[in-house]
Amino acid sequence: MLLKGKDAADKIVSGLLEENLEGLTLAVFHPLGDGAAESYLKTKEKWLKKINAKIEVVPVDEKMTHDAFFRRLEQLNKDDSITGIMVELPLPIKIPEKELLTGINPLKDVDAITYFNQGKIFTSKNEELIPCTSAASIKLLEHYQIDFAGKNVLVIGRSYIVGLPLFKLFLNRNATPTVAHRGTSNLKDLIHNADIIAVCAGTRGIVKSSEVKDGTIVADVGIHVTEEGKIVGDMIIDQENEENRISYSPVPGGVGTVTNAMMLHNLALCRKLQLKK
Ligand code: NAD
Repeated sequence: MLLKGKDAADKIVSGLLEENLEGLTLAVFHPLGDGAAESYLKTKEKWLKKINAKIEVVPVDEKMTHDAFFRRLEQLNKDDSITGIMVELPLPIKIPEKELLTGINPLKDVDAITYFNQGKIFTSKNEELIPCTSAASIKLLEHYQIDFAGKNVLVIGRSYIVGLPLFKLFLNRNATPTVAHRGTSNLKDLIHNADIIAVCAGTRGIVKSSEVKDGTIVADVGIHVTEEGKIVGDMIIDQENEENRISYSPVPGGVGTVTNAMMLHNLALCRKLQLKK
């Protein structure tokens, strides 16, 4: 089966529309002169419009000083008209990671990158702000009623924004997750023995469809642009009609689609958390 993201994403958006959320605004620190960032910004604008939310773009060029960056961040942290904040990485200026991950107001941390929200993910079963991509991977699989309990899950990638939170989300659902990374020596065996694979390595071809056993479910998180300008995932489909043998999310149109909807979900959640405070 092909695990397409559209229906899961539409469901999230229509749920938010029913809530009649007024005046949501996302502030985005946007690196100037970066083609990929330009396209991410356009995508954010398109999705925010679906729930009538606004965007406040903070352009960042190589001349922006460290102090100017953090002054602006502090203003946005305190500004009641700003619901959420995202920082599009990499930035064209050097910002110490620790300062960024402690600098964003945790109640406005739409991609859950702060130490506060990351810590909460690992110390609580109560799932609130979760990085959009990892939350989207789980939402997509849950949309297809995939059961995790007792399953051998392989997460390939250990970034704090995708792989690590995914590990905890699978654990919360009583799966037995294994996290593979650049130091993993028996990756091919792990791939062959997994019931569910979340591949978020950013390495094209790290999984080939022919390497996974019948019935395996693959959430492909990776995004690559080929020389011909085609968007593809981390997994190479190297046999015909694989959707009859395994289930996998297509790229594009799989996890990425749900990630955009999760951004809206998290923005709305930020508003609710701020009101609860
Ligand atoms: P990252 O580079 O921070 O992390 C990649 C991880 O994969 C690392 O932990 C690394 O150890 C592991 N890895 C890489 N190559 C490996 C190899 N050959 N063997 C074993 N482990 C390996 O990347 P990230 O920010 O976590 O993003 C991962 C991918 O997801 C990228 O392709 C990115 O473009 C994509 N992404 C997709 C979405 C979406 O909405 N679908 C959102 C964000 C990122």
